[in-house]
Amino acid sequence: MEENVKSDLKKIFGFSQFRGNQELIVDNLLKQRNTFVIMPTGAGKSLCYQLPAVVKEGTAIVISPLIALMKNQVDQLNAIGINAHFLNSTLTKSEATKVKNEVLKKRTKLLYVAPESLTKEENIAFLKEAQLSFVAIDEAHCISEWGHDFRPEYRKIKSIVGQIAPHLPIIALTATATPKVQQDIQRNLQMEEADLFKSSFNRTNLFYEVRPKVKNESKKALIKFIKQHKGKSGIIYCLSRKKVEEIAELLKVNQINAAPYHAGLDSSVRIKTQDDFLNEELDVIVATIAFGMGIDKPDVRYVIHYDVPKSLEGYYQETGRAGRDGLEGHCLMFYRYEDIIKLDKFNKDKAVTERENAKILLQEMSAYAETGVCRRKFILNYFGETLEEDCGFCDNCKRERVTFEGMDDVTTALEAVKQTNERFTLEHLVRVIRGEMDDYVVSYKHDLLPVFGKGKEASDKHWTSVIRQTMIAALLEKDIENYGHLKITKKGHEFLDAPYSVDLYQDHDFEKLTESETQE
Ligand code: ADP
Ligand code: ZN
Repeated sequence: MEENVKSDLKKIFGFSQFRGNQELIVDNLLKQRNTFVIMPTGAGKSLCYQLPAVVKEGTAIVISPLIALMKNQVDQLNAIGINAHFLNSTLTKSEATKVKNEVLKKRTKLLYVAPESLTKEENIAFLKEAQLSFVAIDEAHCISEWGHDFRPEYRKIKSIVGQIAPHLPIIALTATATPKVQQDIQRNLQMEEADLFKSSFNRTNLFYEVRPKVKNESKKALIKFIKQHKGKSGIIYCLSRKKVEEIAELLKVNQINAAPYHAGLDSSVRIKTQDDFLNEELDVIVATIAFGMGIDKPDVRYVIHYDVPKSLEGYYQETGRAGRDGLEGHCLMFYRYEDIIKLDKFNKDKAVTERENAKILLQEMSAYAETGVCRRKFILNYFGETLEEDCGFCDNCKRERVTFEGMDDVTTALEAVKQTNERFTLEHLVRVIRGEMDDYVVSYKHDLLPVFGKGKEASDKHWTSVIRQTMIAALLEKDIENYGHLKITKKGHEFLDAPYSVDLYQDHDFEKLTESETQE
Protein backbone atom coordinates (compact mmCIF):
# COMPACT_ATOMS: atom_id res chain seq x y z
CA MET A 1 0.00 0.00 0.00
CA GLU A 2 2.58 2.50 1.13
CA GLU A 3 4.86 1.81 -1.81
CA ASN A 4 1.92 2.33 -4.15
CA VAL A 5 1.22 5.70 -2.67
CA LYS A 6 4.85 6.75 -3.07
CA SER A 7 4.90 5.62 -6.65
CA ASP A 8 1.64 7.46 -7.31
CA LEU A 9 3.21 10.57 -5.86
CA LYS A 10 5.94 10.30 -8.43
CA LYS A 11 3.90 8.98 -11.30
CA ILE A 12 0.94 11.30 -11.06
CA PHE A 13 2.23 14.41 -9.34
CA GLY A 14 5.86 14.18 -10.37
CA PHE A 15 7.18 14.64 -6.82
CA SER A 16 9.89 12.34 -5.53
CA GLN A 17 9.21 12.97 -1.85
CA PHE A 18 6.47 13.93 0.53
CA ARG A 19 6.85 17.21 2.34
CA GLY A 20 6.43 17.70 6.08
CA ASN A 21 3.36 15.86 7.37
CA GLN A 22 1.97 14.97 3.95
CA GLU A 23 2.73 11.26 4.12
CA LEU A 24 1.25 10.85 7.60
CA ILE A 25 -1.84 12.76 6.55
CA VAL A 26 -2.35 10.74 3.37
CA ASP A 27 -1.93 7.51 5.36
CA ASN A 28 -4.35 8.65 7.98
CA LEU A 29 -7.04 9.50 5.47
CA LEU A 30 -6.51 6.22 3.63
CA LYS A 31 -7.21 4.51 6.94
CA GLN A 32 -10.62 6.19 6.89
CA ARG A 33 -9.72 8.40 9.84
CA ASN A 34 -11.08 11.90 10.32
CA THR A 35 -8.14 14.20 9.77
CA PHE A 36 -7.50 17.82 10.68
CA VAL A 37 -4.66 19.59 8.91
CA ILE A 38 -3.21 22.95 9.89
CA MET A 39 -0.42 23.87 7.54
CA PRO A 40 0.88 27.26 6.43
CA THR A 41 0.13 28.51 2.94
CA GLY A 42 2.38 27.02 0.32
CA ALA A 43 3.28 23.98 2.38
CA GLY A 44 1.26 21.66 0.14
CA LYS A 45 -2.18 21.07 1.59
CA SER A 46 -3.89 20.16 -1.68
CA LEU A 47 -1.84 17.02 -2.16
CA CYS A 48 -3.09 15.74 1.21
CA TYR A 49 -6.53 15.11 -0.29
CA GLN A 50 -5.72 14.94 -4.00
CA LEU A 51 -3.51 11.89 -3.69
CA PRO A 52 -5.94 9.88 -1.52
CA ALA A 53 -8.74 10.89 -3.88
CA VAL A 54 -6.88 9.32 -6.78
CA VAL A 55 -6.03 6.18 -4.85
CA LYS A 56 -9.43 5.55 -3.31
CA GLU A 57 -12.48 4.18 -5.03
CA GLY A 58 -15.24 6.63 -5.74
CA THR A 59 -15.35 10.40 -5.81
CA ALA A 60 -13.95 12.74 -3.19
CA ILE A 61 -15.96 15.88 -2.51
CA VAL A 62 -13.84 18.97 -2.03
CA ILE A 63 -15.63 21.90 -0.45
CA SER A 64 -13.94 25.16 -1.24
CA PRO A 65 -15.20 28.73 -0.72
CA LEU A 66 -13.70 30.33 -3.77
CA ILE A 67 -15.56 29.69 -6.96
CA ALA A 68 -12.92 31.65 -8.84
CA LEU A 69 -10.22 29.17 -7.82
CA MET A 70 -12.15 25.99 -8.46
CA LYS A 71 -11.77 26.12 -12.20
CA ASN A 72 -8.04 26.68 -11.84
CA GLN A 73 -7.59 23.72 -9.58
CA VAL A 74 -9.70 21.47 -11.73
CA ASP A 75 -7.79 22.55 -14.85
CA GLN A 76 -4.49 21.80 -13.12
CA LEU A 77 -5.67 18.34 -12.11
CA ASN A 78 -7.01 17.60 -15.58
CA ALA A 79 -3.67 18.69 -17.02
CA ILE A 80 -1.90 15.92 -15.10
CA GLY A 81 -4.48 13.36 -16.13
CA ILE A 82 -6.72 13.33 -13.07
CA ASN A 83 -10.43 13.34 -13.72
CA ALA A 84 -11.81 16.24 -11.68
CA HIS A 85 -14.85 18.47 -12.00
CA PHE A 86 -16.55 21.28 -10.19
CA LEU A 87 -20.12 22.03 -9.34
CA ASN A 88 -21.04 25.63 -8.67
CA SER A 89 -23.33 28.42 -9.77
CA THR A 90 -21.23 29.29 -12.83
CA LEU A 91 -22.30 26.11 -14.61
CA THR A 92 -25.30 26.00 -16.93
CA LYS A 93 -27.93 23.39 -16.28
CA SER A 94 -26.63 21.12 -19.04
CA GLU A 95 -23.04 21.50 -17.88
CA ALA A 96 -24.08 20.55 -14.37
CA THR A 97 -25.94 17.50 -15.67
CA LYS A 98 -22.85 16.44 -17.58
CA VAL A 99 -20.71 16.70 -14.45
CA LYS A 100 -23.23 14.71 -12.46
CA ASN A 101 -23.27 11.97 -15.06
CA GLU A 102 -19.49 11.69 -14.91
CA VAL A 103 -19.68 11.31 -11.15
CA LEU A 104 -22.47 8.72 -11.31
CA LYS A 105 -20.45 6.77 -13.85
CA LYS A 106 -17.68 6.72 -11.23
CA ARG A 107 -15.21 8.47 -13.48
CA THR A 108 -14.65 11.56 -11.39
CA LYS A 109 -11.98 11.34 -8.70
CA LEU A 110 -12.48 14.81 -7.26
CA LEU A 111 -15.60 16.92 -7.29
CA TYR A 112 -15.12 20.51 -6.13
CA VAL A 113 -18.31 21.95 -4.67
CA ALA A 114 -19.11 25.42 -3.40
CA PRO A 115 -20.82 25.36 0.00
CA GLU A 116 -23.89 27.10 -1.37
CA SER A 117 -24.23 24.45 -4.08
CA LEU A 118 -23.92 21.73 -1.47
CA THR A 119 -26.99 23.01 0.34
CA LYS A 120 -29.23 22.67 -2.73
CA GLU A 121 -31.80 19.87 -2.45
CA GLU A 122 -31.18 18.57 -5.96
CA ASN A 123 -27.45 18.29 -5.30
CA ILE A 124 -27.96 16.51 -2.01
CA ALA A 125 -30.20 14.00 -3.78
CA PHE A 126 -27.59 13.51 -6.47
CA LEU A 127 -24.72 13.05 -4.02
CA LYS A 128 -26.73 10.44 -2.16
CA GLU A 129 -26.66 8.40 -5.37
CA ALA A 130 -22.95 8.82 -5.94
CA GLN A 131 -20.22 6.57 -4.64
CA LEU A 132 -18.13 8.84 -2.47
CA SER A 133 -14.70 8.28 -0.94
CA PHE A 134 -14.38 11.12 1.56
CA VAL A 135 -15.09 14.81 2.09
CA ALA A 136 -12.33 17.43 2.11
CA ILE A 137 -13.15 20.82 3.61
CA ASP A 138 -10.66 23.36 2.37
CA GLU A 139 -10.21 26.71 4.14
CA ALA A 140 -11.90 25.16 7.14
CA HIS A 141 -11.41 28.30 9.23
CA CYS A 142 -14.40 29.73 7.35
CA ILE A 143 -16.50 27.65 9.76
CA SER A 144 -15.57 29.82 12.71
CA GLU A 145 -17.09 33.11 13.72
CA TRP A 146 -13.98 33.76 15.78
CA GLY A 147 -11.74 33.80 12.75
CA HIS A 148 -11.17 36.32 10.04
CA ASP A 149 -13.15 34.85 7.20
CA PHE A 150 -16.42 33.48 8.53
CA ARG A 151 -18.84 32.01 5.97
CA PRO A 152 -22.21 31.10 7.45
CA GLU A 153 -22.85 28.36 4.83
CA TYR A 154 -19.80 26.55 6.12
CA ARG A 155 -21.58 25.82 9.37
CA LYS A 156 -24.14 23.73 7.47
CA ILE A 157 -21.58 21.39 5.94
CA LYS A 158 -21.62 18.84 8.72
CA SER A 159 -25.36 18.32 8.75
CA ILE A 160 -25.50 18.04 4.97
CA VAL A 161 -22.67 15.53 4.85
CA GLY A 162 -24.60 13.70 7.56
CA GLN A 163 -27.61 13.48 5.23
CA ILE A 164 -25.55 12.38 2.25
CA ALA A 165 -23.29 9.80 3.83
CA PRO A 166 -22.91 9.95 7.61
CA HIS A 167 -19.88 7.68 7.88
CA LEU A 168 -17.71 9.30 5.26
CA PRO A 169 -14.29 10.30 6.57
CA ILE A 170 -13.67 14.04 6.69
CA ILE A 171 -10.44 15.90 6.15
CA ALA A 172 -10.51 19.57 7.18
CA LEU A 173 -7.67 21.83 6.10
CA THR A 174 -6.67 25.38 6.90
CA ALA A 175 -3.64 27.63 6.84
CA THR A 176 -4.70 29.78 9.75
CA ALA A 177 -6.29 28.77 12.96
CA THR A 178 -5.82 30.24 16.36
CA PRO A 179 -6.46 27.70 19.13
CA LYS A 180 -9.97 29.10 19.53
CA VAL A 181 -10.78 28.74 15.84
CA GLN A 182 -9.30 25.25 15.83
CA GLN A 183 -11.59 24.19 18.64
CA ASP A 184 -14.57 25.76 16.93
CA ILE A 185 -13.89 23.89 13.69
CA GLN A 186 -13.57 20.55 15.44
CA ARG A 187 -16.74 21.08 17.45
CA ASN A 188 -18.77 22.21 14.53
CA LEU A 189 -17.69 19.28 12.39
CA GLN A 190 -18.10 16.97 15.37
CA MET A 191 -14.59 15.76 14.84
CA GLU A 192 -13.03 16.34 18.24
CA GLU A 193 -11.65 12.83 17.89
CA ALA A 194 -9.94 13.59 14.60
CA ASP A 195 -6.20 13.21 14.29
CA LEU A 196 -4.60 16.61 14.24
CA PHE A 197 -1.60 17.35 12.04
CA LYS A 198 -0.37 20.80 12.85
CA SER A 199 2.76 22.20 11.23
CA SER A 200 4.67 25.03 12.75
CA PHE A 201 3.66 28.49 11.65
CA ASN A 202 7.21 29.66 11.84
CA ARG A 203 8.33 30.91 8.44
CA THR A 204 11.98 31.32 9.31
CA ASN A 205 12.91 32.89 5.97
CA LEU A 206 10.52 35.81 6.36
CA PHE A 207 11.77 39.07 7.84
CA TYR A 208 9.05 41.05 9.62
CA GLU A 209 9.16 44.83 9.89
CA VAL A 210 6.73 47.59 10.85
CA ARG A 211 7.27 51.26 10.13
CA PRO A 212 5.15 54.23 11.12
CA LYS A 213 2.90 55.57 8.40
CA VAL A 214 3.61 59.22 8.01
CA LYS A 215 2.23 61.32 5.20
CA ASN A 216 4.57 61.77 2.22
CA GLU A 217 7.46 60.17 4.08
CA SER A 218 5.92 56.71 3.82
CA LYS A 219 5.41 57.10 0.10
CA LYS A 220 9.04 58.04 -0.30
CA ALA A 221 10.05 55.13 1.88
CA LEU A 222 7.92 52.82 -0.23
CA ILE A 223 9.51 53.94 -3.46
CA LYS A 224 12.96 53.69 -1.96
CA PHE A 225 12.32 50.18 -0.68
CA ILE A 226 11.10 48.99 -4.08
CA LYS A 227 14.06 50.58 -5.87
CA GLN A 228 16.40 48.80 -3.50
CA HIS A 229 14.74 45.56 -4.67
CA LYS A 230 14.89 46.44 -8.34
CA GLY A 231 13.90 43.62 -10.68
CA LYS A 232 12.52 41.55 -7.81
CA SER A 233 8.88 40.52 -7.49
CA GLY A 234 6.78 42.14 -4.82
CA ILE A 235 3.19 42.65 -3.73
CA ILE A 236 1.84 45.82 -2.14
CA TYR A 237 -1.47 45.49 -0.33
CA CYS A 238 -3.80 48.45 0.14
CA LEU A 239 -7.23 48.51 1.66
CA SER A 240 -9.31 50.20 -1.01
CA ARG A 241 -9.47 50.12 -4.78
CA LYS A 242 -8.90 53.85 -4.82
CA LYS A 243 -5.73 53.53 -2.81
CA VAL A 244 -4.54 50.69 -5.03
CA GLU A 245 -4.95 52.89 -8.10
CA GLU A 246 -3.26 55.81 -6.43
CA ILE A 247 -0.21 53.86 -5.25
CA ALA A 248 0.14 52.02 -8.57
CA GLU A 249 0.11 55.37 -10.34
CA LEU A 250 2.68 56.78 -7.93
CA LEU A 251 5.00 53.85 -8.57
CA LYS A 252 4.63 54.08 -12.35
CA VAL A 253 5.44 57.77 -12.26
CA ASN A 254 8.58 56.77 -10.43
CA GLN A 255 9.64 54.37 -13.19
CA ILE A 256 8.65 51.28 -11.26
CA ASN A 257 7.21 48.43 -13.28
CA ALA A 258 3.93 48.13 -11.38
CA ALA A 259 0.24 47.49 -12.06
CA PRO A 260 -2.95 47.64 -10.00
CA TYR A 261 -5.14 44.64 -9.20
CA HIS A 262 -8.58 44.72 -7.60
CA ALA A 263 -12.05 43.31 -8.07
CA GLY A 264 -13.24 46.47 -9.84
CA LEU A 265 -11.02 45.81 -12.85
CA ASP A 266 -12.13 43.86 -15.86
CA SER A 267 -11.38 40.17 -15.51
CA SER A 268 -9.33 40.20 -18.72
CA VAL A 269 -7.17 42.97 -17.26
CA ARG A 270 -6.78 41.09 -14.00
CA ILE A 271 -5.79 37.90 -15.77
CA LYS A 272 -3.23 39.73 -17.85
CA THR A 273 -1.76 41.46 -14.80
CA GLN A 274 -1.53 38.18 -12.97
CA ASP A 275 0.10 36.45 -15.95
CA ASP A 276 2.57 39.29 -16.42
CA PHE A 277 3.50 39.02 -12.77
CA LEU A 278 3.97 35.25 -12.99
CA ASN A 279 6.04 35.63 -16.17
CA GLU A 280 8.27 38.33 -14.69
CA GLU A 281 7.08 40.96 -17.10
CA LEU A 282 5.76 42.90 -14.17
CA ASP A 283 7.74 43.48 -10.98
CA VAL A 284 5.16 44.83 -8.61
CA ILE A 285 1.46 44.24 -8.11
CA VAL A 286 -0.44 46.79 -6.07
CA ALA A 287 -3.55 45.02 -4.88
CA THR A 288 -6.46 44.70 -2.54
CA ILE A 289 -6.70 41.38 -0.75
CA ALA A 290 -8.61 40.13 -3.80
CA PHE A 291 -5.17 39.25 -5.12
CA GLY A 292 -3.06 36.33 -4.08
CA MET A 293 -5.35 33.49 -3.12
CA GLY A 294 -4.17 30.45 -4.97
CA ILE A 295 -1.29 32.31 -6.60
CA ASP A 296 1.76 30.13 -6.50
CA LYS A 297 4.72 32.33 -7.39
CA PRO A 298 7.68 30.98 -5.47
CA ASP A 299 10.02 33.96 -5.72
CA VAL A 300 8.00 36.87 -4.37
CA ARG A 301 10.75 38.71 -2.47
CA TYR A 302 8.61 41.14 -0.51
CA VAL A 303 5.06 41.80 0.61
CA ILE A 304 4.27 45.31 1.76
CA HIS A 305 1.12 46.30 3.63
CA TYR A 306 0.69 49.95 2.89
CA ASP A 307 -2.52 49.84 4.92
CA VAL A 308 -2.93 47.78 8.05
CA PRO A 309 -4.80 44.49 7.52
CA LYS A 310 -7.95 43.58 9.45
CA SER A 311 -6.46 40.71 11.38
CA LEU A 312 -3.22 38.98 12.16
CA GLU A 313 -4.58 35.91 10.38
CA GLY A 314 -4.99 37.95 7.22
CA TYR A 315 -1.57 39.47 7.70
CA TYR A 316 0.01 36.07 8.12
CA GLN A 317 -1.71 34.69 5.02
CA GLU A 318 -0.74 37.67 2.89
CA THR A 319 2.86 37.85 4.05
CA GLY A 320 3.00 34.08 3.56
CA ARG A 321 3.04 34.72 -0.19
CA ALA A 322 6.62 35.95 0.12
CA GLY A 323 9.55 33.55 -0.03
CA ARG A 324 7.67 30.40 -0.89
CA ASP A 325 10.89 29.08 -2.43
CA GLY A 326 12.46 29.16 1.02
CA LEU A 327 14.69 32.13 0.22
CA GLU A 328 14.37 35.45 1.99
CA GLY A 329 11.12 37.35 1.95
CA HIS A 330 10.72 40.80 3.45
CA CYS A 331 7.37 41.61 5.07
CA LEU A 332 6.96 45.30 5.66
CA MET A 333 3.92 47.01 7.11
CA PHE A 334 3.19 50.71 7.39
CA TYR A 335 1.16 51.37 10.48
CA ARG A 336 -0.71 54.16 12.20
CA TYR A 337 -3.44 53.83 14.77
CA GLU A 338 -5.91 55.93 12.77
CA ASP A 339 -6.11 53.11 10.26
CA ILE A 340 -7.31 50.79 13.00
CA ILE A 341 -10.01 53.29 13.95
CA LYS A 342 -10.99 53.64 10.30
CA LEU A 343 -11.32 49.88 9.92
CA ASP A 344 -13.41 49.66 13.05
CA LYS A 345 -15.77 52.27 11.64
CA PHE A 346 -16.27 50.18 8.50
CA ASN A 347 -17.81 47.54 10.75
CA LYS A 348 -20.39 49.82 12.28
CA ASP A 349 -23.29 48.28 10.36
CA LYS A 350 -22.45 44.74 11.35
CA ALA A 351 -24.30 42.78 13.99
CA VAL A 352 -23.06 43.40 17.52
CA THR A 353 -21.15 40.17 18.08
CA GLU A 354 -19.66 40.27 14.63
CA ARG A 355 -18.47 43.79 15.24
CA GLU A 356 -17.07 42.85 18.63
CA ASN A 357 -15.17 39.93 17.12
CA ALA A 358 -13.82 42.12 14.35
CA LYS A 359 -12.72 44.64 16.94
CA ILE A 360 -10.79 42.04 18.92
CA LEU A 361 -9.00 40.99 15.74
CA LEU A 362 -8.13 44.63 15.08
CA GLN A 363 -6.81 45.11 18.60
CA GLU A 364 -4.51 42.13 18.14
CA MET A 365 -3.33 43.65 14.90
CA SER A 366 -2.51 46.96 16.50
CA ALA A 367 -0.82 45.24 19.45
CA TYR A 368 1.38 43.40 16.96
CA ALA A 369 2.33 46.62 15.22
CA GLU A 370 3.13 48.48 18.41
CA THR A 371 4.94 45.73 20.28
CA GLY A 372 8.62 45.87 21.13
CA VAL A 373 8.68 42.09 21.43
CA CYS A 374 10.23 39.88 18.76
CA ARG A 375 7.58 39.86 16.03
CA ARG A 376 7.93 36.18 15.31
CA LYS A 377 7.31 35.43 18.99
CA PHE A 378 4.18 37.55 18.84
CA ILE A 379 2.82 35.91 15.69
CA LEU A 380 3.56 32.38 16.84
CA ASN A 381 1.99 33.03 20.22
CA TYR A 382 -1.13 34.19 18.41
CA PHE A 383 -1.33 30.84 16.65
CA GLY A 384 -0.75 28.94 19.87
CA GLU A 385 2.98 28.25 19.53
CA THR A 386 5.78 29.31 21.83
CA LEU A 387 9.13 30.45 20.53
CA GLU A 388 11.65 30.27 23.35
CA GLU A 389 14.35 32.55 21.96
CA ASP A 390 14.10 35.82 20.08
CA CYS A 391 14.36 35.16 16.36
CA GLY A 392 17.05 37.69 15.49
CA PHE A 393 15.33 38.15 12.14
CA CYS A 394 12.76 40.90 12.62
CA ASP A 395 13.00 44.65 13.07
CA ASN A 396 12.51 44.45 16.81
CA CYS A 397 15.28 41.90 17.24
CA LYS A 398 17.59 43.99 15.08
CA ARG A 399 17.06 47.34 16.72
CA GLU A 400 18.03 48.84 20.07
CA ARG A 401 15.02 48.34 22.26
CA VAL A 402 14.00 50.00 25.48
CA THR A 403 13.72 47.29 28.12
CA PHE A 404 12.82 47.45 31.78
CA GLU A 405 12.87 45.06 34.72
CA GLY A 406 9.47 43.37 34.71
CA MET A 407 9.40 41.06 37.71
CA ASP A 408 7.04 43.19 39.77
CA ASP A 409 4.73 44.08 36.91
CA VAL A 410 4.45 40.48 35.77
CA THR A 411 3.65 39.48 39.34
CA THR A 412 0.92 42.12 39.45
CA ALA A 413 -0.53 40.92 36.15
CA LEU A 414 -0.61 37.31 37.33
CA GLU A 415 -2.06 38.33 40.70
CA ALA A 416 -4.84 40.22 38.95
CA VAL A 417 -5.75 37.12 36.96
CA LYS A 418 -5.56 34.91 40.03
CA GLN A 419 -7.57 37.18 42.31
CA THR A 420 -10.34 37.52 39.72
CA ASN A 421 -10.46 33.72 39.36
CA GLU A 422 -9.25 33.54 35.76
CA ARG A 423 -12.56 34.75 34.42
CA PHE A 424 -11.86 38.13 32.87
CA THR A 425 -10.54 39.80 29.77
CA LEU A 426 -7.38 41.77 29.34
CA GLU A 427 -9.29 45.07 29.33
CA HIS A 428 -10.98 44.29 32.61
CA LEU A 429 -7.72 43.20 34.22
CA VAL A 430 -6.12 46.47 33.19
CA ARG A 431 -8.95 48.42 34.82
CA VAL A 432 -8.62 46.42 38.02
CA ILE A 433 -4.86 46.95 38.18
CA ARG A 434 -5.27 50.66 37.52
CA GLY A 435 -8.01 50.99 40.10
CA GLU A 436 -10.72 52.16 37.73
CA MET A 437 -14.34 51.75 38.73
CA ASP A 438 -16.93 50.55 36.27
CA ASP A 439 -20.10 48.44 36.48
CA TYR A 440 -18.22 45.17 36.26
CA VAL A 441 -15.68 46.15 38.88
CA VAL A 442 -18.48 47.17 41.22
CA SER A 443 -20.72 44.17 40.65
CA TYR A 444 -17.88 41.67 41.09
CA LYS A 445 -16.50 43.66 44.03
CA HIS A 446 -13.10 43.76 42.39
CA ASP A 447 -12.40 47.07 44.08
CA LEU A 448 -11.99 45.09 47.30
CA LEU A 449 -9.17 42.93 45.93
CA PRO A 450 -5.58 43.50 47.10
CA VAL A 451 -4.48 44.00 43.48
CA PHE A 452 -7.05 46.75 42.84
CA GLY A 453 -5.28 50.00 42.03
CA LYS A 454 -1.87 48.47 42.50
CA GLY A 455 -0.65 49.90 39.22
CA LYS A 456 -2.51 53.19 39.12
CA GLU A 457 0.58 55.28 38.40
CA ALA A 458 1.21 53.56 35.05
CA SER A 459 -0.91 53.95 31.90
CA ASP A 460 -3.48 51.70 30.24
CA LYS A 461 -1.06 51.09 27.46
CA HIS A 462 1.66 50.06 29.87
CA TRP A 463 -0.47 47.41 31.56
CA THR A 464 -1.94 46.17 28.32
CA SER A 465 1.57 45.65 27.06
CA VAL A 466 2.71 43.96 30.30
CA ILE A 467 -0.19 41.48 30.19
CA ARG A 468 0.44 40.72 26.54
CA GLN A 469 4.09 40.10 27.19
CA THR A 470 3.16 37.85 30.09
CA MET A 471 1.10 35.86 27.58
CA ILE A 472 3.92 35.73 25.05
CA ALA A 473 6.21 34.45 27.78
CA ALA A 474 3.64 31.65 28.22
CA LEU A 475 2.80 32.58 31.82
CA LEU A 476 -0.74 33.43 30.82
CA GLU A 477 -2.88 31.92 28.09
CA LYS A 478 -6.23 32.56 26.50
CA ASP A 479 -9.03 30.41 27.81
CA ILE A 480 -10.43 28.91 24.63
CA GLU A 481 -13.68 27.93 26.33
CA ASN A 482 -14.39 31.53 27.26
CA TYR A 483 -13.36 33.88 24.54
CA GLY A 484 -10.97 36.55 25.71
CA HIS A 485 -10.60 35.31 29.28
CA LEU A 486 -7.07 34.80 30.53
CA LYS A 487 -5.77 31.86 32.56
CA ILE A 488 -2.51 31.22 34.35
CA THR A 489 -0.34 28.48 32.88
CA LYS A 490 1.76 26.00 34.84
CA LYS A 491 4.76 28.17 34.10
CA GLY A 492 2.80 31.16 35.42
CA HIS A 493 2.07 29.41 38.71
CA GLU A 494 5.75 28.57 39.04
CA PHE A 495 6.55 32.22 38.52
CA LEU A 496 4.12 33.27 41.26
CA ASP A 497 5.69 30.74 43.65
CA ALA A 498 9.19 31.95 42.94
CA PRO A 499 9.31 35.16 40.89
CA TYR A 500 12.37 35.78 38.77
CA SER A 501 13.81 38.67 36.83
CA VAL A 502 12.33 39.26 33.36
CA ASP A 503 13.08 41.84 30.70
CA LEU A 504 10.02 43.55 29.30
CA TYR A 505 10.03 45.70 26.20
CA GLN A 506 8.51 49.12 25.88
CA ASP A 507 5.93 49.36 23.08
CA HIS A 508 6.75 51.68 20.21
CA ASP A 509 5.07 55.02 20.48
CA PHE A 510 3.48 55.17 17.07
CA GLU A 511 1.24 58.03 18.02
CA LYS A 512 4.25 60.21 18.54
CA LEU A 513 5.90 58.90 15.42
CA THR A 514 2.90 59.73 13.27
CA GLU A 515 2.01 63.06 14.83
CA SER A 516 2.92 64.98 11.72
CA GLU A 517 0.19 63.08 9.91
CA THR A 518 -2.75 65.02 8.54
CA GLN A 519 -5.82 63.82 6.67
CA GLU A 520 -4.88 61.79 3.66
P1 ADP B 1 -1.22 25.19 0.04
O1 ADP B 1 -2.58 24.75 -0.41
O2 ADP B 1 -0.80 24.57 1.34
O3 ADP B 1 -1.03 26.68 0.03
P2 ADP B 1 -0.39 23.92 -2.36
O4 ADP B 1 -1.13 22.67 -2.16
O5 ADP B 1 -0.92 24.91 -3.35
O6 ADP B 1 -0.16 24.65 -0.98
O7 ADP B 1 1.11 23.56 -2.71
C1 ADP B 1 2.08 24.55 -2.87
C2 ADP B 1 3.10 24.11 -3.92
O8 ADP B 1 3.89 23.04 -3.44
C3 ADP B 1 2.47 23.64 -5.20
O9 ADP B 1 3.19 24.18 -6.28
C4 ADP B 1 2.62 22.15 -5.15
O10 ADP B 1 2.69 21.60 -6.44
C5 ADP B 1 3.93 21.99 -4.39
N1 ADP B 1 4.06 20.71 -3.68
C6 ADP B 1 3.15 20.13 -2.88
N2 ADP B 1 3.61 18.96 -2.38
C7 ADP B 1 4.85 18.80 -2.87
C8 ADP B 1 5.87 17.78 -2.73
N3 ADP B 1 5.67 16.71 -1.96
N4 ADP B 1 7.03 17.97 -3.38
C9 ADP B 1 7.22 19.06 -4.15
N5 ADP B 1 6.32 20.04 -4.34
C10 ADP B 1 5.14 19.92 -3.71
ZN1 ZN C 1 12.48 38.59 16.23
